[in-house]
Amino acid sequence: MKFLLVLAVLAVAFWIWRNNRESEARDRRDAAPARPPAPQPMIACARCGTHVPEQEAVKGTAGHYCCAEHRRQHEASPR
Ligand SMILES: [Zn+2]
Repeated sequence: MKFLLVLAVLAVAFWIWRNNRESEARDRRDAAPARPPAPQPMIACARCGTHVPEQEAVKGTAGHYCCAEHRRQHEASPR
């Protein structure tokens, strides 16, 4: 009878241990890090050469610029 009690305790302990492992694995899957944003193409400013992300670049008639001020300067006195 004592043997059965020990077996029952071991079975319960094993069941709890297995449940913990499964929930930990589930937590790890849920907490997987989000993918980093895709790299953006960089464009050199036609005025000063500073590289800026394509989305932030200011488009001008003679190319791309880092800011509106450089577009104005470059288009006012193109070399
Ligand atoms: Zn610039």
